[in-house]
Amino acid sequence: MTTERETILIIDDEELVRQVIRRKLSSEGYHCLEAANADQALDELKRNAIELAILDIKMPGKSGIELLPEIKEHYPDTVVVMATIIADTNTVIQCMRQGVFDYISKPLNLDEVVLSVGRALEMRRLRLIESDKQYRTVFESANDVLLSLDRRGKILDVNEKLKELGGYEKEDLIGKNIRSLTKMMSKKSLVVVAKNFLKRMAGINVPPYEVEMVTKSGELLTVEINAVAIRREGKVIGDLAILRNVTEHKKAEKALRESEEKWRSLTGNTDDTIVVTDNNDVIRYINRTIPPTTPEGVIGKTIYEYVSEENHNIMRESLKRVYKKREPDSYEVALDMSKIDPEIGTLWFRTKVVPIKTDKQVVGTIMVATDITERKRAEEVLRESEERYRTVIQDAHDMIQSVRPDGSFIFANPAWLQTLGYTEEDLPGLNMFNIIHPESLAHCQELFTKVMVGEAVQDISATFTAKDGRKILVEGNATPRYIGDNVVATQGIFRDVTERKRAEEEIKQLYEQLKTFNIELEEKIKERTKELEVAVKDAEAANQAKSEFLSGMSHELRTPLTAIIGFSQVLTEQYFGELNEKQAEYVKDILESGEHLLSLINDILDLAKVEAGKAELELSSVNMKELLESSLVMIKEKALKHSLSLEARLSSVLDNLLIIADQRKLKQVMFNLLSNAAKFTPDHGRITVEAGREGEEIMVSITDTGIGIALKDQGNIFDEFYQVRSGAKDKTPGTGLGLPLSKHFIEMHGGRIWVESEGKSKGSRFIFSLPIREANQDKET
Ligand code: ADP
Repeated sequence: MTTERETILIIDDEELVRQVIRRKLSSEGYHCLEAANADQALDELKRNAIELAILDIKMPGKSGIELLPEIKEHYPDTVVVMATIIADTNTVIQCMRQGVFDYISKPLNLDEVVLSVGRALEMRRLRLIESDKQYRTVFESANDVLLSLDRRGKILDVNEKLKELGGYEKEDLIGKNIRSLTKMMSKKSLVVVAKNFLKRMAGINVPPYEVEMVTKSGELLTVEINAVAIRREGKVIGDLAILRNVTEHKKAEKALRESEEKWRSLTGNTDDTIVVTDNNDVIRYINRTIPPTTPEGVIGKTIYEYVSEENHNIMRESLKRVYKKREPDSYEVALDMSKIDPEIGTLWFRTKVVPIKTDKQVVGTIMVATDITERKRAEEVLRESEERYRTVIQDAHDMIQSVRPDGSFIFANPAWLQTLGYTEEDLPGLNMFNIIHPESLAHCQELFTKVMVGEAVQDISATFTAKDGRKILVEGNATPRYIGDNVVATQGIFRDVTERKRAEEEIKQLYEQLKTFNIELEEKIKERTKELEVAVKDAEAANQAKSEFLSGMSHELRTPLTAIIGFSQVLTEQYFGELNEKQAEYVKDILESGEHLLSLINDILDLAKVEAGKAELELSSVNMKELLESSLVMIKEKALKHSLSLEARLSSVLDNLLIIADQRKLKQVMFNLLSNAAKFTPDHGRITVEAGREGEEIMVSITDTGIGIALKDQGNIFDEFYQVRSGAKDKTPGTGLGLPLSKHFIEMHGGRIWVESEGKSKGSRFIFSLPIREANQDKET
């Protein structure tokens, strides 16, 4: 145990080696000094009390071997541990003879250095206190198992540490001869132990060696034995051995060595840089370095010395993770090579760090660094070209993406991120193949491969998965991006068609619904048509019944009416005796009422016929002039009675004109219009009938100087049963059917009828037109 800090002098011409050792040993609690050559070393030794010196054999100027005797002679209490690259047995043996306690090989394994230094200092302490009264205390307080033997190999003493090494008790050993420890060691190991013991008794130094030891519970341990002969007055009187359990260290060494060997054999034909480090991050193996650095130059140094400082943190973090999780990790670094070679500039490496594990711990790592400079530069070019279209891309409504061959993203525009619910920060962790929904993955991978070999793919239909798991249907194109002849990325432009597809689906469904609806409708129409057909049949039957009823009624009504009219006429003529005044008046009333009733029945019958579509024109050649003149005769008597003047102004073009028409119906129209004129014109008024030809029509008008028709009534008087209140000068009430019937008859001929009146007391004019169908022409054709 160190109560005071022990001072160690590191003698080595390479400053880096000194620094590495110094850092490690300082962290172990030692006080360290440095010397770059033999002279400096002697200087330091003179000025300080130095417990231990680590001495480099190969040094410019005075070499380690030359310096060694001087140290031994002048500073016998300083133990020397030798460090050398050349594992040259002769040199080692030569040094051992000169009293070097231990040697460590270069490239350095810092654990080995610590172990060796520990052992040497322990031995030094033991030597010093060999004769010391405090021997016991030191003996017990040692870190390692200590054994003292007499000349014959009998175990004299052993310390408490023995329990930690295999669970043995002092009693198991004290008093026994080392040759008899068959339970503790394999036979082979025992032979080695015995041989080395004899050598030492013969005065020969034996370097530390390893044996296999069996614990009490049967476990196998690797134990390092470092023993020195104990002399008294020049004579060897016994042996002092330090036993140390190096099983774990051994395993680590083995794993590292295996990795080293494995990588050495594998890395002959790889472009990657492969580094094997131990758990102090010291490079144990490297397959290549960037010139002028050589692999030999960096082996033994920590990786931090090889890699520029700005990357140390990234590396340290990654290594921390590897040691903690015992799982591979990776990181990307940029190495600024411009100091070494300005032409190289910055190199990019992606490094995968794989732990080397024993069953208990991580003992080192294998770092595989792939040069991704080409890729990085390509992406830089790509990014620059994208920069040029940046605003277009940024503002685009379409989703635009740039993806590396491994599916990771170089770029995605805001529309892309927004549609899928991601942010810019999510992008580095995303992979296109995870974005594509499983249902279209196989298809997309196929297309992706096509693009990667240089084909542009159009009309892609795919399903993406949004961050929240929603399905996004897209359509678009993908094109390869080249740097030189290589496709370095695929660029895709997509459009979210989820809504459109949904709408299409909806329309499809609606269409389907409409189709069934149409079919139903057709069914309904069929049903309705059937119903209507029935209804029409019913209506026809009803009409038939109506017509039959009407003709029946006319017969039934007209027969008694004829009797009423006939007999009341006979009574008026007083043929069968004179009537007194009252009787004559009543009979006259009966006659007039009878005649009114008859005309009403006739009109109703005519109208019913028209409405039932049964009225037909009975066509013949008609001379309009004659027809008009004869219709004036019909009201002559009435006109005379009321002192109305009648005038006819008939154009001579009508003189010989014969048209095809229904004479009886036209006469009825003229009779209706003229009797209305007479009826609604006060005494001494005038009625004028005019007729002439206008183009292919005959125009006839009947003008009176009567009461006129108010504007609001003009539109209604052609409706059935419409009568303007008041105005008729004689008592005979009208039927309200004359004008509608006339209208029907005129229209049956293809003509029109209308009224013109400037209002009350301003007289009326009824005008109708008839198309000319000339009888003579008809005959000719
Ligand atoms: P009626 O004459 O039998 O009442 P109409 O159909 O012939 O039935 O005539 C309908 C109505 O039109 C009449 O009641 C009358 O009010 C009005 N009217 C017809 N002709 C004339 C006319 N020349 N002058 C004023 N009013 C008329």
